[in-house]
Amino acid sequence: MYKKISARYVLGSDGTQHTLIEDGEVVFDGDSIVFVGRNYAGPVDEERDYGQSLVMPGLIDLDALADIDHLILDSWSSPEVAAGHLWSDDYFANRRRDVFTPPERSVVRKFALAQLALHGITTYMPIASEIHSSWAEGYDELVDMAETSRRIGLRGYLGPAYRSGVHVTTATGDRAVHFDEALGLAGLRDAERFMDHAAGLEDPLITGAFLPCRIETLSEDLMRETARIARERDALVRLHCLQSPLEDEFLQRSAGRGVLELLDFTGLFGTRLLIPHAVVIDGADAVASAPGGPLETLARHGVSIVHCPMTSFRYQKQLVSFDRFRTAGINLCLGTDSFPPDLVRGMDVGMHLTRMIEGRPDAGALADYFNAATLGGARALGRADLGRLAPGMQADITVVSLGHFGDGVVEDPLRTLVLNGTARQVTDTFVAGRPVVVDGALPGIDLDALRVEGQRLFDRMRAAYSGRDVQFREPDVLFPPTYPHAEVAVAVAVNDR
Ligand SMILES: [Zn+2]
Repeated sequence: MYKKISARYVLGSDGTQHTLIEDGEVVFDGDSIVFVGRNYAGPVDEERDYGQSLVMPGLIDLDALADIDHLILDSWSSPEVAAGHLWSDDYFANRRRDVFTPPERSVVRKFALAQLALHGITTYMPIASEIHSSWAEGYDELVDMAETSRRIGLRGYLGPAYRSGVHVTTATGDRAVHFDEALGLAGLRDAERFMDHAAGLEDPLITGAFLPCRIETLSEDLMRETARIARERDALVRLHCLQSPLEDEFLQRSAGRGVLELLDFTGLFGTRLLIPHAVVIDGADAVASAPGGPLETLARHGVSIVHCPMTSFRYQKQLVSFDRFRTAGINLCLGTDSFPPDLVRGMDVGMHLTRMIEGRPDAGALADYFNAATLGGARALGRADLGRLAPGMQADITVVSLGHFGDGVVEDPLRTLVLNGTARQVTDTFVAGRPVVVDGALPGIDLDALRVEGQRLFDRMRAAYSGRDVQFREPDVLFPPTYPHAEVAVAVAVNDR
């Protein structure tokens, strides 16, 4: 079935780069694009004109929040309170539990994936917060998530998060990583099992990937086994690392080596590796890009860096710098990592941080950022058929409205979107030609009910921090409100006095 969509602006591709077509059209047949340009002459079965909108390649989020929220709780706390956000070692040893039942976890996923879709993301690789699970993610949980993902219609690269260690606050208030090797290896078995399950679905929208937790929570054996199996299966591995100076300290203690050395030593550099964050590397230091330095090493091993500008920014970190990583030949892609899963705002923050770091107004070019959100993501996934709109490519499309008065004027549609707007202007998306977001809604999903349910589960999640805190502090102490809640005088009718 041929479907034609048109709009005031279409971001097509000339084969080497994105190109802007005014009053453009995209025609797709099933999951593939057959035409991008103007005045398509052939017959079509269906057509829709989106008017004052930008039709662009679907956004690729490779560190996509698969949870309700956590940044709203933990990105702004004092060190004293922050220690209480981690598990206490007593909780680790004696009282670990799942905050949510499996059906509730399922709702959490639905909430998160609906958010991704509504923010214009068409391809994602999830990141969960394991803090409210009794350990990490299991096979069943991911099987269920894959079903939710398929129902919504997103393109997912999925796998259970697994780890052999957990960050804890000890009774003396220190930070440590406590290990349980057996649970780590069981997690890897689950990940392998899920890979088989994903392959068995024979659904082009679901691909298995190895998504272990942060590097300092993996034992050396777990890293080595992950690398071995991933190479055997030619599978993607995403490993959070190079995000905190603490990593090296912990790894020296548990494995006697630092991050880059371990990636090499365990064979992880030999996998199709994605690394979110990389904010501990100082790319401005000449040593970083010298042969054998971190930038050169990452480039040589073909590592993709998943840059999550807004999340890094909100945790007081930044990539130094996007431009330096790019010119070092490192593939850059983007991630949201926390709420809101808004790559438009992410690009805005990233561009401006890059300008600050480089001290030049022309640093952090929007084209480079948009390339990362599309082509860079596709490259990281090894998908030459994603990330751009051209004949033969997958029909993964995001439509953004520029028609609201508040959007201001269009000088260049992408510039207007990123400088003036947000991803909430997304009205429609298609994944493999199938409509996912339609007129700002998700057909078949009651968003009002999902919002209410999400709030209820989030409130429970927030309350559960108290039982894990080494000092059992109340939620309002762990997460002090912006202003104190007022003592509201209750009006009493005169007659009742
Ligand atoms: Zn992350």
